[in-house]
Amino acid sequence: MRPSPSAILTYHSIGGGSSVVETPAGLFVRQMEWLAESGMPVVGLEQSIVQPGTVALTFDDGYRDFMSAALPVLQRFSFPATIFAVTDYCRTGGGWMDWEQMREAARAGVSIGAHGVDHADLSRVGPEAAQRQLGDCRRMLEDRLGVAVRTCAYPYGLSTPALREWSRREFAVSCGTRLDYACSGDDRADLPRIDVYYLRRMALFRQIGRPAGRGYLAFRRVLRERRGRWAYE
Ligand SMILES: [Zn+2]
Repeated sequence: MRPSPSAILTYHSIGGGSSVVETPAGLFVRQMEWLAESGMPVVGLEQSIVQPGTVALTFDDGYRDFMSAALPVLQRFSFPATIFAVTDYCRTGGGWMDWEQMREAARAGVSIGAHGVDHADLSRVGPEAAQRQLGDCRRMLEDRLGVAVRTCAYPYGLSTPALREWSRREFAVSCGTRLDYACSGDDRADLPRIDVYYLRRMALFRQIGRPAGRGYLAFRRVLRERRGRWAYE
């Protein structure tokens, strides 16, 4: 029997709204409670790809509500997580985590990954600019936070073969947004993830890792690919 794949979940904001980037805070708590009860190991992103049947939690863009709505819940269950940070956002304040909050998250054991300097579409900026976006982002995160940045996620999930070849050398793991489970045979320069937008109903979330859940995601993937890419990732 094939080992069951792992689910790398993508969150953005944990808030009160109902936009495609927001997971309501109460729903997030229920999802984490269910994961804790399910017995499925929740592991770090790098571990998820070598340990089948696990779940990894990623948070894109560094929304400020991570600190109030996500971190306390993650700590309650001792769940590891990765924030994919955009370094220009850290300066602007507003809805984003600032540098002090990033440091606080890193000190709490949250892994920090690179998500670009300004969230440009890396498939359109040219090869050198694309490398600079991720390389400069990583350097700044490492300098400011004093942590090693070993992972990245492409804004909008978009990359080119040349960028993936570079990422393969530079990062242990790079994530895209192809809607699928991940397994050890996948390209570590473009790992698929599951946006929790598709699992907002608890009945669907509870199917994570089960054959029925995989069938549902395959169906959503086809619809999504027909519609073209999402604008918000
Ligand atoms: Zn993003």
